[in-house]
Amino acid sequence: MEQLLELYQQMGISPAVYAYGEETLNRIRERFAAIDRIAEYNQAKVLAAMQKNRVGAACFAATTGYGYDDMGRDTLERVYADVFHTEAALVRPQITCGTHALTVALSANLLPGDELLSPVGMPYDTLQEVIGIRESPCSLAEYGVTYRQVDLLADGSFDYDGIRAAIHEKTKLITIQRSKGYATRPTFSVEQIGELIAFCKRIKPDVLVMVDNCYGEFVETIEPSDVGADMTVGSLIKNPGGGLAPIGGYICGTQKCVDRCAYRLSAPGLGQEVGANLGLMPSLYQGFFLSPTVVAGAEKGAIFAANLYEPLGFRCVPNASEPRYDIIQAVELGSEAGMIAFCKGIQAAAPVDSYADPIPGDMPGYDAQVIMAAGAFVQGSTMELSADGPIREPYAVYFQGGLTWAHAKLGILMSLQKMADAGLVKL
Ligand SMILES: *Cc1c(COP(=O)(O)O)cnc(C)c1O
Repeated sequence: MEQLLELYQQMGISPAVYAYGEETLNRIRERFAAIDRIAEYNQAKVLAAMQKNRVGAACFAATTGYGYDDMGRDTLERVYADVFHTEAALVRPQITCGTHALTVALSANLLPGDELLSPVGMPYDTLQEVIGIRESPCSLAEYGVTYRQVDLLADGSFDYDGIRAAIHEKTKLITIQRSKGYATRPTFSVEQIGELIAFCKRIKPDVLVMVDNCYGEFVETIEPSDVGADMTVGSLIKNPGGGLAPIGGYICGTQKCVDRCAYRLSAPGLGQEVGANLGLMPSLYQGFFLSPTVVAGAEKGAIFAANLYEPLGFRCVPNASEPRYDIIQAVELGSEAGMIAFCKGIQAAAPVDSYADPIPGDMPGYDAQVIMAAGAFVQGSTMELSADGPIREPYAVYFQGGLTWAHAKLGILMSLQKMADAGLVKL
């Protein structure tokens, strides 16, 4: 398309980068078609839940104060429960982020003397302080909840013997993180998670299982709640917020677990009954409605990036041809200069703060400098096109998101352009 190439050129993308992008795209059309089919299914699933629960204009009204009988909030929670096929759901702006949702789910269902088990290795960074793996005031450890961990085997599979040995009478709750997050292990499919849950429940039928579903929602047609998870938990600043939710988290699960979460979130006795919606219902509903196609666009961006960079000699995790179970793509750029060029491209392609220049800086909790590129409507949103990574071996950027596939494509082309401009790749 002449017209598009001309505009891209004006924006700084060379004909060579564009042509290489088109060549790459031609190799992955079938995968894109498969992603569209999953999005179509998930779109229908969300629509059916909205229709069944009679979502109407009245659901969008703002409430303040205590929020008793908040119809918009209560209906949204029923919509989530139906999409996740659970008895109940807790979804509201009072849950500030994914870490908060996970913290509520854990601290509501673990009592002093109970043990928490992670059979999939080290949990996501922010959870380490929640659990008390890294010492922190108000951690679960401080409240007398012990923690045990079984690492994955060298090939990334579950250590079933180790898990069997780690489950004992005190094991109350098992936490399974679906996405690799910023680790190097593989992300698990929902089917794999189901096998792990079934294994654990065969050993201890009354053990509770929570799945950290961050970055995984709507990547497949089933969710962890469809394969036996008692609680499925995530952030509205990621997939299910569809890029529109300005805040929020969700916990979908059994009535018993969700009731306890509500009592922990607000207060014993109050539970789900309080919590005004503050006028945020339109973006929470609309974001959830858009989420299946937003997730599809982000996933296409991830696959495009892997297929663009891998043939140029950069290791990609997941690689160019592997199946995907989340929207995160790691690209090992091999040098600090590579990471900077890549992030400059993502930033330059952003709708917001495109004029900013990302540079490495110190970050609390990291032992190396970190570089970040993000130009987002919702601050810090990694559902929007964004990239970051610590400046150390193997010099990998983790990038994810993109509210539309077209934007993800432009950002990735721009990253390659900056790499080419810096003499780091030859096309
Ligand atoms: C992002 C993330 C979290 C934390 O969510 P926040 O909204 O950033 O607090 C937890 N687990 C995983 C796997 C994540 O990717």
